[in-house]
Amino acid sequence: MPLFNTKEMLKKACSQNYAVGAFNINNMEILQGIMSACNRLNSPVILQVSEGARLYAGSLYLVSLIKSAVKIFKDIPLALHLDHGRSFEMCKTCIEEGFTSVMIDGSHLPYERNVALTKAVADYAHKKDVTVEGELGRLAGTEENIDVENMETFYTNPKQVKDFIYKTNIDSVAVSVGASHGVCKFFKDQEPGLRFDILEKIHKSLENFPIVLHGSSSVDEEIIKKINLFGGKIKNTSGLTEKILKKAIAMGVCKINIDSDIRLVATASIREYMNDISPSSFDPRGYLGYARDKIEDIVAHKIEHVLGSKNKI
Ligand SMILES: [Zn+2]
Repeated sequence: MPLFNTKEMLKKACSQNYAVGAFNINNMEILQGIMSACNRLNSPVILQVSEGARLYAGSLYLVSLIKSAVKIFKDIPLALHLDHGRSFEMCKTCIEEGFTSVMIDGSHLPYERNVALTKAVADYAHKKDVTVEGELGRLAGTEENIDVENMETFYTNPKQVKDFIYKTNIDSVAVSVGASHGVCKFFKDQEPGLRFDILEKIHKSLENFPIVLHGSSSVDEEIIKKINLFGGKIKNTSGLTEKILKKAIAMGVCKINIDSDIRLVATASIREYMNDISPSSFDPRGYLGYARDKIEDIVAHKIEHVLGSKNKI
């Protein structure tokens, strides 16, 4: 199969009440772990590349790896998606490189400017059969100093969503309903969980339009313990539980972005391998191969027990 855009993939997920996992790719082992899990469970997948990943690995390396995955896994529907594109130029460059879907993140801009930027990208992308994700409402990053009292200004305004989609002609919308990026999803004094009241209003007003949830890692305590047991120093963590994610999927979320959980499992397994399994080894294939197996396991778990995308190819 060629690379797909996300149109049919998300439409099917929305109508059958499951979500497609969107996993961030930074190197070969991460991609291989994800693909082995999708192949084992016959799951469609969205492979995301951020601007940071492009800088780290070089876009051509990543695109070439993903095009190789298309050849190897002929039966698995794959989309190549730009995560958090910040400018029209960045989206255009990725489309020229072969991305089949882009996110234009104008969420930091005033509403009308977000609309104008997102619409410009959608107009350009649609001519090339590329799908577009827009974002309304701001997702907090853990590095930001946020006063919980002011959280309301970060949430997506349910009354604006329909207007945003209508004016921009996007194919999916990322919403801000309480989670943030990173390994600490909830700020001090913030109730852990999502604002399901807001999500429900958005879902009702959109009638099966694809809703995207960013920052959807579960940040498993056992993985954090393992990292810290083997010399890590990761503190103040909180994630979205599987129960919360399943409820969000039942409320119309059909693309779930997961990055931190893969970073954490990779870090934990490399620390474990170097400290405990084979301290005398100095072959990167040993620890990277071990991390790749663990990435496969966590992605397979999510497909089967959280996303519900098993056997949906
Ligand atoms: Zn994000």
